[in-house]
Amino acid sequence: MIPRRALVALVGIGFFAPAGCGPEADAPLGPPPSAAELCAGLPEGRPASSPAWEADEGAAARRFGVPLALLRAVAQVESGRQNVLGQPEVAGQPVARGPWGLTPAQLDHAAGALRLPRSRLEREVPLQAYAAAWLLRQAAGSTAVDADWAAALARFRELPTAAGRGAYVAEVLRRAGEPVPLAVAAVASASATTGAADYAGAVWRASPNFNARPNPADVHLIVIHSCEGSYVVCWSWLTNPAARASAHYVVREDGSEISQLVHERDRAWHVAARYECARNGGHDCERNGQSINDFSIGIEHAGFASQPMWPRAQLDASARLVCDITRRWGIPRDRYHIVGHAQLQPADRTDPGSGWPWTAYVACVRAACGEY
Ligand SMILES: [Zn+2]
Repeated sequence: MIPRRALVALVGIGFFAPAGCGPEADAPLGPPPSAAELCAGLPEGRPASSPAWEADEGAAARRFGVPLALLRAVAQVESGRQNVLGQPEVAGQPVARGPWGLTPAQLDHAAGALRLPRSRLEREVPLQAYAAAWLLRQAAGSTAVDADWAAALARFRELPTAAGRGAYVAEVLRRAGEPVPLAVAAVASASATTGAADYAGAVWRASPNFNARPNPADVHLIVIHSCEGSYVVCWSWLTNPAARASAHYVVREDGSEISQLVHERDRAWHVAARYECARNGGHDCERNGQSINDFSIGIEHAGFASQPMWPRAQLDASARLVCDITRRWGIPRDRYHIVGHAQLQPADRTDPGSGWPWTAYVACVRAACGEY
């Protein structure tokens, strides 16, 4: 007997099969699955397997005298310990590569110092383990075992805001099971306040990167993005004035926190394209030529367009947020009004990528709003 979940997933895929072709045309499928059933068919997310490069990670930590827990925690925070390849998303934010999210400058630096061909370092995760350990040791500025690792982490991942650096250091230390220095914890927590957010479930981290909408009452589209970085990296860049980019919301990897950076009534800077209805199923053609930021709400998701799947808890948290936005603004809950960045700006954006489970995600939005 096929488990109910698998059946729901199969039926979900079958939705897009052309009518009358293939053996499934005659299959007794019964009524189509409800939004709640389609949403329930989402897998949990990243498989919990040990990566093949774990032994190299241990050897690299020993070689450069970096605590293994710290090296592991950096990869956990940067990428969820996945071998990712970042794409351009925010101006100035360097693209991240591999489990430790190494930037082009870090790869250059480590390749030179460790005498590794840069092209091999880009391709081979075990070598990146050595590069990351060496970079952490360099950032520590000494060879001491009990180096100031909090300061080293802030130098390792040069984030553009003090709040971002504090939150990054606190996050990595917590993951490594290390105490977070009081001064670091204070800087990290000072960045977030409650009360100002439009969504009750969000913390407020103000971005200076916004302006007024031409019509503050006209909000008609929700744009889904992937940050091409971790949660902290994402909100830190989007609250940095020099980035000249923002989004209304950022959803954390595990769905446990959502940051709001720009009020919904204001115009965040998350899509650099004008609307063309041909890219959106011929919907809302009267808006052709209008800046998409004028009438949209942008939601960034910590993670990468190159990742094969998204954590269920993150998708659930995002779906509850989108349900709330659609309720308050009267936005239809369908694929013409909940759209990916790449679809609207195909010339130079790929997010949220082919791993984003659109059918189940929109079903989760509907289910969160009680639609069946
Ligand atoms: Zn985007």
